[in-house]
Amino acid sequence: MATRFENGIVVMLGEKNRVLWNGAVVTDGERVAAVGNAAEMKRRFPAAESVDCSGKIILPGFICTHHHFYSTMARGMGIPGEPAANFVEILERLWWKVDRALDEEDITLSAQLPLIDCIRNGTTTVIDHHASPGMRDGSLDLIENAVRQSGVRASLCYEVSDRNVLGAGIAENERFIKKVGKGDGQIAAMMGMHASFTMSDATIERCVGIARDAGVGCHIHVAEDAADREDSLAKYKMPTVNRLQKLGVAGEKSIFVHCVHIDDAEMDILAATKTSVVHNPESNMNNAVGVTPLLKLLSKGVLVGLGTDGMGSDMLAQMRCAYLLHRLANHDPRVAFMEAPQLLLQNNAAIAKRQFGLQLGEIAEGLPADLAILDYQPPTPLSDANFLGHLIFGLVDANVDTTVCKGKILMQGKRILSMDEERLAARSRELAPLMWQRLQEL
Ligand SMILES: [Zn+2]
Repeated sequence: MATRFENGIVVMLGEKNRVLWNGAVVTDGERVAAVGNAAEMKRRFPAAESVDCSGKIILPGFICTHHHFYSTMARGMGIPGEPAANFVEILERLWWKVDRALDEEDITLSAQLPLIDCIRNGTTTVIDHHASPGMRDGSLDLIENAVRQSGVRASLCYEVSDRNVLGAGIAENERFIKKVGKGDGQIAAMMGMHASFTMSDATIERCVGIARDAGVGCHIHVAEDAADREDSLAKYKMPTVNRLQKLGVAGEKSIFVHCVHIDDAEMDILAATKTSVVHNPESNMNNAVGVTPLLKLLSKGVLVGLGTDGMGSDMLAQMRCAYLLHRLANHDPRVAFMEAPQLLLQNNAAIAKRQFGLQLGEIAEGLPADLAILDYQPPTPLSDANFLGHLIFGLVDANVDTTVCKGKILMQGKRILSMDEERLAARSRELAPLMWQRLQEL
């Protein structure tokens, strides 16, 4: 069934980037059937259902290339004792307890609620990284079910590490990767790995072997904190990226998350192997780990995308955080205006293409119908020439009204249609204190 999203400002992005006032996007099934002037689209597709988008701007749905749905129930939780003083303490005292305390229903709710948040923020594609050592086998199926129910797209993986049991999680990834196969455009799979400093050579080699046989990439945290670099230098006499490259982890389908503490030679390896990097500015600032050398990575031709690392699901906020952080860190008000939007709008689409085999992040005839429709009355002229100014200083604070993925309306008039938010949040409020209690006993 066809739908005309009409009378809004359409920003197509992609190669033929154009801004169309009084525009319309016509969707038919899971794809965009046509984009153009609203009156012309009405003439060409008179039978299509109409969704009035006047006073709104129609953008391609946003993509998040690194998320942790499972972190949801940590919100508002008190941690006994002195505050964690560094990154490793944050892991040991918070995240490695949260993931162990999660049970089956927690995992489902911990996915459903951030998925609702994604829809609320116009984020229609997510690459997630999951951990739940207390309920590991089958956990990716629970998340898959939540993703299918929500209607967005997600690439899923389980975080392998040697921290509790050697190679824990390898079987869950292998099972899920085989189940997903080439994927259906909605669900994709990767080989999830925690980080160099929690994985032996043997464990990494097993992961790489499975990923290589299945033709999928590895999704791993890299040099997020100086501790990861120091561990690799001390134990293996080489920096983190060198070690991972030597073990076969790098490659076009792999995602190296963070890359805060890397040197020039490591950046060259990332560029030469076409490995993607995902930058998570809010998370890096929250954990006080340092600043990713973003401008240098980009200048070396590394594909750098943007994620939230579980801090939330609002990609416009994340983009503006990257913009502000790199201006300040470089003490230069000339930088990051082009680069921060590039991570979100172009590079995340390029990374998603490697995972889903789809051209996302663009509104054009024949492409997937994923849309974020925001309330926006531009106070100044808006065209393709000055769109980035509106993105950074206006749209970042605009409300998403309607979210569409695979041609299906998931939220309209700010009401989530695919899931019962009130009921799920109420249930999560019941279960979270029980999870917090179990966590105290770990
Ligand atoms: Zn992460």
